[in-house]
Amino acid sequence: MRITVLSGGVGGARFTLGLLALLRERLPDGSGGTTAEVTVVANTGDDMWLHGVRVCPDLDTLMYTLGGAVHPGQGWGRREETRRVSTDLAAYDLGWDWFTLGDLDLATHLARTQLLREGFTLSQVTDRLCRRWQPGVRLVPMSDHEVETHVLVTDDDGTSPRPERLMHFEEWWVRYRASLPALRFVQVGLEGAVPAPGVLAALTETDVVLLPPSNPVVSVGTILALPGVRAALAGSPAPVVGVSPIVGGAAVRGMADACLRTLGVETSAAAVARHYGLRSAGGLLDAWLVDTADSGCVLGLAGQGWLVSAVPTLMTDVAATAEIAAQALALVGREP
Ligand code: GDP
Ligand code: CA
Repeated sequence: MRITVLSGGVGGARFTLGLLALLRERLPDGSGGTTAEVTVVANTGDDMWLHGVRVCPDLDTLMYTLGGAVHPGQGWGRREETRRVSTDLAAYDLGWDWFTLGDLDLATHLARTQLLREGFTLSQVTDRLCRRWQPGVRLVPMSDHEVETHVLVTDDDGTSPRPERLMHFEEWWVRYRASLPALRFVQVGLEGAVPAPGVLAALTETDVVLLPPSNPVVSVGTILALPGVRAALAGSPAPVVGVSPIVGGAAVRGMADACLRTLGVETSAAAVARHYGLRSAGGLLDAWLVDTADSGCVLGLAGQGWLVSAVPTLMTDVAATAEIAAQALALVGREP
């Protein structure tokens, strides 16, 4: 079975780890290998240049999580990380004190930047970095072009008229904790950008497409904004199933509600489903898995033609997450 996942960082990586555990568990001989071929298309809208190096937060979170190197408490960055370099940089009064660049993590960014400077594409560089981390999936950036999500914000300081300015998504998210009112998201570099090699084929030549509970606006939404992606999904013979990132009317971790508000989408499992849309009605999804806390929306969605069910969707550990992945696949008849 071929499985394609469209992923952001922490939410998508945790989900994929559970999916891989499920696939291993269902193998008849119980061996560590897997009969399924999993392709993860990663959002690169959060990428940025910092201190002269290219940082790819979602690709790295996926690579470290699936490669067994992620910091267990944080869910991003490297385990046993230190911060000697960033502390020393601060002594020069340089850099962004709100964005952590750990020493081990920095080695990844240096390696990536060196290879990019040598002329390799981001896809090729990602392949090369994955040779070390062996994530157990084919990890593909959504595009080899630089497409960065920026946020048009107003400074809510009570003065009138309030100035508007554009800042990198990570600054809005990490530095301001999404507290500055966001007027809209702008994908800088989207014109002229195309999906990376293999991305469109991964959507059409597959047995199932999974949308993990990643941020629907700035993780999955950014991938969907690339030319050809929506059309490939709409025309794919494979069923498309999503897991709600909204549980009990709230984002589980992070501030996805602030992103949804900017688009005028209510923070509820049903509203996110309708935002993606039902494929038979011109949208993207065939099926939607919600949390038991949101079971109240199941009948309504089913009545509109959705394949939908409610199960516990908190990714508390790998076993619980494997069960979520199993339920998502079962909704569209793709049990491993
Ligand atoms: P990021 O790039 O690191 O922000 O990660 P993603 O975009 O992949 O995922 C972030 C989203 O995951 C958040 O919007 C949360 O709502 C969602 N999320 C996090 N943990 C859980 C969980 O345990 N269950 C569910 N259903 N969603 C979760
Ligand atoms: Ca991200």
